[in-house]
Amino acid sequence: MIIPKYKRILLKLSGEALMGNSGYGIDPAVMDFLCDEIKSIKDLGVDVAIVVGGGNIFRGMNASTQGIDRSTGDYMGMLGTVINALAFQNSLEKKGMMTRLQTAIRMEQIAEPFIRRRAVRHLEKGRIVLFGAGTGNPYFTTDSAAALRAFEVSADILVMGKNGVDGVYDSDPKKNPDAKRFLSVNFKDILKQNLRVMDMTAITLCQENKLPIAVITLDKAGVLKKFINGEKIGTTVGEVETILSE
Ligand code: UDP
Repeated sequence: MIIPKYKRILLKLSGEALMGNSGYGIDPAVMDFLCDEIKSIKDLGVDVAIVVGGGNIFRGMNASTQGIDRSTGDYMGMLGTVINALAFQNSLEKKGMMTRLQTAIRMEQIAEPFIRRRAVRHLEKGRIVLFGAGTGNPYFTTDSAAALRAFEVSADILVMGKNGVDGVYDSDPKKNPDAKRFLSVNFKDILKQNLRVMDMTAITLCQENKLPIAVITLDKAGVLKKFINGEKIGTTVGEVETILSE
């Protein structure tokens, strides 16, 4: 039997990863697929914490175009992440996984408030912990929330599950057919070359706290499991040598 390379992960999924081709909201088929992927690693005994974004529902940045001030828009965005997390919780439980949802903004009728020690206990008991409402603060993103929660629950790695891209490239692979994927990339190069992995606040947090990040695609079945079992997939970001693929 293969021993998983990671014992505890924090998986970050953007809201856009949930919407499939529909352009808005949650695509049930995509949700179903993602839950199967998560089950495949849960079955290996891996502790799984999840931060889900809200970009499929609302982005605070876009609020000003609708006459809504930024902070209010950001709170709306954070509530969007809770909608996604509830949908996720429902789908995961339908597949027999035990879950708990904790939110950074209190809403006790639907979720536990975020309590770090309790979150860790849930993970130890084999429950998947979903973190909703980002950091609870406007002007932040769910990438920063993912970094923060990853430190707090002592995750081995922060896994950025992407759709439409399978790692970090030296230029935009959608625009440049010669773009090369990094096998690994040092934090310093991410910042120096302004590579898009997550927003700058989040990447700086990871660098300062020495948390490795993996950028993988979640479009294809089996990728997450292969990654957890130690296959070299996607791009690793950390205190590593920067290496481009051939
Ligand atoms: N947001 C926020 N503070 C946080 C996390 C999220 O204000 O700590 C708001 C922000 O408006 C953001 C929206 O919630 O645009 C959705 O989150 P994000 O853009 O990170 O989602 P993703 O791009 O991952 O879908």
